[in-house]
Amino acid sequence: MFNLVLFGPPGSGKGTQSTNIIEKYQLVHISTGDILRAEVANETPLGVEAKKYMDQGMLVPDEVVIGMISSKLDATPDAKGFIFDGFPRTVAQADALDNLLEFKNSPINIVLSLMVSEDELKSRLISRGEVSGRSDDNEDVIVKRIKEYHAKTSPVADYYKGKEKLVEIPGEGTVDSIFNALCAEIDAKLD
Ligand code: ADP
Repeated sequence: MFNLVLFGPPGSGKGTQSTNIIEKYQLVHISTGDILRAEVANETPLGVEAKKYMDQGMLVPDEVVIGMISSKLDATPDAKGFIFDGFPRTVAQADALDNLLEFKNSPINIVLSLMVSEDELKSRLISRGEVSGRSDDNEDVIVKRIKEYHAKTSPVADYYKGKEKLVEIPGEGTVDSIFNALCAEIDAKLD
């Protein structure tokens, strides 16, 4: 199995690049943001609870998100590997993921971290808000999401650095050039 974490702040291009990566490497895509938005759209009890946090730019509680990941892993036992997009977003989530993967004897192989400047992130998220219809893509909430990222998510980079799994990739440039840089790192690990 080959397991990859695509890491980076909101607006760093994780979703766009995940789509390209899953196609090329046939990995199963697990995006906690997508799963949560589907729960919200279906008005499930989990979705109703999660929406309160998401609309304020805050992270959904760890136990909710970890439970979601655990069922998603169980639902695809024959996967060649997974790409985790928007997860883990806290050190507690990263720990839980390691424990879940230990049962499968298939640890995280690489963590690719997309590096994008704060100004660029804000302008991308604001323009995405104009077309996405996402309730969390407005200026106030964007500022809160970036704050939440610095407080709770950026320590996850250090967690993986300590395990020598983190590779930083410049996240500004064309989608293709960033994709090529990501593929080069994945291919080097697959060899
Ligand atoms: P973005 O990468 O643009 O911030 P996502 O689609 O990944 O957007 O996430 C949107 C929202 O969903 C987050 O602001 C947060 O409220 C919630 N969310 C997504 N993934 C997680 C996670 N792993 N842990 C906690 N909350 C999450």
